[in-house]
Amino acid sequence: MHKFTCAKCDSRIFFDNQACLACGSPVGFAASDLSMVTLRSEAEIGRAHV
Ligand SMILES: [Zn+2]
Repeated sequence: MHKFTCAKCDSRIFFDNQACLACGSPVGFAASDLSMVTLRSEAEIGRAHV
């Protein structure tokens, strides 16, 4: 099981979370990076949900 942290607040994010539970930042899986990222734009969010 991979563990990820929020880029904003460094809280732990679980793989199936769609937002940081601590700060509410939307998060998603970035296929390009093979990692979870904290999303910053609607466009990024749209791509992450594919
Ligand atoms: Zn956060």
